[in-house]
Amino acid sequence: MEKYKLLINGQWLEPQSGEWFETENPFTGQPWAMIPRCGKAEVDAAVAAAKAAFHQKSPWRTMTASARGAIVRKLGDLIAANADHLASIETRDNGKLYAEMRGQLGYIPQWYYYFGGLADKIEGRVIPIDKPGIFNYTREEPLGVIAAITPWNSPLMLATWKLAPALAAGNTIVWKPSEFSSASALEMGRLFEEAGFPPGVVNIVTGFGSDIGEPLVTHPDVAKVAFTGGDKTGEAVYGMAARGIKKVTLELGGKSANIVFDDASMDDAVKGVISGIFAATGQTCIAGSRALIHKSIHDKFVEKLLAMASQARMGDPSQMTTQVGPITTRPQYRKVLEYIEIAKQEGAVCRLGGTPAARPECGTGWFVEPTIFTGVKPTMRIANEEVFGPVLSIIPFEDEDEAVEIANNTIYGLAAGVWTQSIQRALSMPARLEAGTVWVNTYRAVSYMSPFGGFKRSGIGRESGLHAINEYLQTKSVWIDIVGNAPNPFVMR
Ligand code: NDP
Repeated sequence: MEKYKLLINGQWLEPQSGEWFETENPFTGQPWAMIPRCGKAEVDAAVAAAKAAFHQKSPWRTMTASARGAIVRKLGDLIAANADHLASIETRDNGKLYAEMRGQLGYIPQWYYYFGGLADKIEGRVIPIDKPGIFNYTREEPLGVIAAITPWNSPLMLATWKLAPALAAGNTIVWKPSEFSSASALEMGRLFEEAGFPPGVVNIVTGFGSDIGEPLVTHPDVAKVAFTGGDKTGEAVYGMAARGIKKVTLELGGKSANIVFDDASMDDAVKGVISGIFAATGQTCIAGSRALIHKSIHDKFVEKLLAMASQARMGDPSQMTTQVGPITTRPQYRKVLEYIEIAKQEGAVCRLGGTPAARPECGTGWFVEPTIFTGVKPTMRIANEEVFGPVLSIIPFEDEDEAVEIANNTIYGLAAGVWTQSIQRALSMPARLEAGTVWVNTYRAVSYMSPFGGFKRSGIGRESGLHAINEYLQTKSVWIDIVGNAPNPFVMR
């Protein structure tokens, strides 16, 4: 079994405790690698290294912004060159389809190219200040040490959304990946030195959130916490960060509505609803876990949906032909099955799946059949709580107002989909939906160029796009007297 080390100050180290934990392959259910179990000692050492790398006279702080950007872009090149390897590690560790992870790894470099390109375009402004004899300008400066805490579902992509802008802006990083998907982070860690990052600019500590989450988030030398994960953990992280008046970006969960109107192209909408909930085995924050279907097309739509979903090929996620892979973690597998039982008890009608997958091609993996419920009422738990698995709730609606009301009646606000051929609806619905992303006649599209983040309980801040770099900068206002002749010192100038 592979036995990994952790990365602090450019050194590959064993955990001080001498403890490792096993990480399992969700397709086989078997352990395949050993991950260091870090504690407070490693967190303190990693933050100290990141702080030293951020020192004003450090190589990282004294290099030009163009040189910094070139290193960030080089990291993109190295990830592209190692994409096959990194994708296969992700698939082995988190069970997501190799086809999807290879696609993500092929795309991830774009974040490093885009933000690397922005590094030397971070500019302050000269303010035409209203005080005679004063020259006033602003500087955009990095924050310092960023704690990047990431989940297991798209490990390297969601880390990249933090690392690329944070590094381009000149910060340093302590990265804590999920305990369920640390291997790809440690493999990627091998590329930082080759890209040219000075030691300590990026540090990786692995282990359990319950052990090292708090020491990391509350560490006085951490300036900001950039977190992706569930909303309950996000709430705890926000509370801990508040004690230190730290900045946060929180990318949390969702219960997104995929709304199909009676004028939609039905075949496209069926594919859109399938992609919203069964791609990535439903383990995406943007899962369209509620399909809102206009009453007049409900029955026909459900029929077509069942026909297509029942054909989904399950099995070995490393095979390019597989469409639905296993659930990533044992606890998540149990949670998905529990929600299916809750939905049944609440009176939702299970029209497809609803059980663990007992197909030979699923072997001993943690598979749940693609599951579709009809007769779901907006008040049911299955319509309100994030399942994070291949479980779809179908809710009928009468008209546009009712669709908007049901869609918005959630604590979350991450994403929404609208399927319509009406130009009016295509323009009016996005304005009415409380979500950080709205897709019209498409679903599950993201780009390094477009801001991503949540309304309401789905989060704070935005990742990707021009907005994102500002999340890792702070503005300083500089005042210079250019005429001398100091005025009355007892009166504000
Ligand atoms: P968790 O919230 O369980 O974990 C996220 C990260 O936080 C992990 O690294 C975890 O470590 C860590 N963590 C756990 N406890 C603490 C703590 N007390 N202090 C600090 N860090 C802690 O989420 P999952 O990993 O289960 O990911 C799934 C969730 O992520 C879903 O709710 C999903 O919606 C959300 N998500 C949101 C996205 C978005 O962009 N909005 C994108 C993708 C996912 P450990 O694993 O060791 O417990």
